[in-house]
Amino acid sequence: MFCERQCALIHVEQQWQEDVATIEGKHLHDSAHDVGTESRGNLRIARGLALRSLQLGLSGKTDVVEFHQLSAGEPESSGVVLPGVSGRWRPYPVEYKRGRRRDELSYKVQVCAQALCLEEMLGVTVPEGALFYGKTARRQVVVFDEALRRTIAAAAERLHELFRQGKTPDAVYVKNKCRQCSLLDICLPRQVASPRNVDAYLARMASTDAPSAHLGEGEGK
Ligand code: SF4
Repeated sequence: MFCERQCALIHVEQQWQEDVATIEGKHLHDSAHDVGTESRGNLRIARGLALRSLQLGLSGKTDVVEFHQLSAGEPESSGVVLPGVSGRWRPYPVEYKRGRRRDELSYKVQVCAQALCLEEMLGVTVPEGALFYGKTARRQVVVFDEALRRTIAAAAERLHELFRQGKTPDAVYVKNKCRQCSLLDICLPRQVASPRNVDAYLARMASTDAPSAHLGEGEGK
């Protein structure tokens, strides 16, 4: 959802590059991923759950899944039974993000995809979850509406198409996005997204037989 080229560089080409943001994010996720459970009144907290959806062809690991005990009068079908405790409990995924709150669709897609996995695995509806922002220690509730669910189905299909093709999409340089991308130095979006430079380079090569001609910065793909 963030960038198809970044997705293909990481998952098709197996390229990765750490930067300050990815390392900070990893620390936050590592602490959230410490496997275990915790009880707080009518709340059970599970960390690092392995999830999958056979329908979507997705798998992953949660930061946190809270289980909220159903109140009297709520339909039993909206909760699941947990081992060793009475009552029924509604799953509520929480995804941890470094930084401050951002209206980022890819974040909402990520936590909703976890909900879809939980629904398929547990046979229960998961109507909402949350994003937790490390910098401000604030939550943003995310409602898993039909539009978001359809977005995920389309994104999962596109993901599998990328894998089938085994081809990395061309770069599209978007200043605000690319400047925060950890793969900027591998992707080189400004250089590869400008076919004019390649054409100019090939034209120069065709018109000269100078052996010292070389591919300079911003001139090649
Ligand atoms: S630098 Fe930009 S185009 Fe390249 S992978 Fe990152 S976000 Fe995508």
